[in-house]
Amino acid sequence: MSTTELDGKTAVVTGAGGQIGGGIARELARAGSDVVLADVDVLDTAYNQQGSEDVHGAETAHALADEIETMGRRSMVVECDVTKADQVESMVDRTVEEFGALDVMVNNAGIITLSPVEELDEAEWDSVMDVNVKGVYLCAKASIPELRKSTGTMINTASIAGEIGAAGLGHYVASKHAVMGLTKCLALELAPDDVTVNAICPGIVNTPMWEKVLTPAMEGSYDEIIGDVIPLGRDQTPEDMGRLAVYFATNRNVTGEAVKVDGGITQNVI
Ligand code: NAD
Repeated sequence: MSTTELDGKTAVVTGAGGQIGGGIARELARAGSDVVLADVDVLDTAYNQQGSEDVHGAETAHALADEIETMGRRSMVVECDVTKADQVESMVDRTVEEFGALDVMVNNAGIITLSPVEELDEAEWDSVMDVNVKGVYLCAKASIPELRKSTGTMINTASIAGEIGAAGLGHYVASKHAVMGLTKCLALELAPDDVTVNAICPGIVNTPMWEKVLTPAMEGSYDEIIGDVIPLGRDQTPEDMGRLAVYFATNRNVTGEAVKVDGGITQNVI
């Protein structure tokens, strides 16, 4: 095991059984951190990228925990629905009981569906807002006292959809704009305590969001979409997001920022 910048630190990653959460957890572990993996197997709603209540997030996180342990770091899976305050509070309590502190809180769990506003069910709006916005608020609220003690850092997974619009994604886009706003306000609220708060804005990562929801609704294959919309001509990876998380977790003078990792998508006007 090599000594690295995050040696002795403890991170929590929500949605860690998913692709991007997994990439973030792996890179934080590679940088030396112990990692608590928070996810759920069953949601209250089928309005998500799996199109089912059964998402198997915690099940997947168990395999990742084994992988992280083989890297020489400690890991623990906590079943936690980020929309439930009691589960979120207990996740933070269990982290501190088991690992002694909470240094890096990554609010990454997120869901997507595709529907124009005119056809959007109220329950669909509520589901996406609950996970993507209320989930970040609840995890922030519960982790702030511990982050103050550790002078730690919070990292929120937003999206390029936090900056631009997309037809059929009004609810998702609104939720990610909210995460961007929350990130800026949290950065200001926590700066006096030397806690930093930043956002990662992924572009296109080939996860169930694309595979099951977005690509089937678009013309052309996934590879054709990538070639058409990304100036660098390739999609982004969970590890790209993980390396940005490590940057945020190790730089004490960056706060309130949202960094896009999108191969130039959002620079393109034609
Ligand atoms: P994913 O489906 O691979 O992972 C999402 C994870 O969140 C799943 O493991 C799921 O079980 C978990 N989850 C869902 N609801 C939850 C809840 N209530 N409580 C706890 N966990 C819950 O998706 P992903 O693409 O890795 O998405 C991760 C984040 O990245 C999301 O916030 C998403 O909006 C954002 N994002 C993704 C892309 C992309 O191209 N894939 C682009 C921009 C932003």
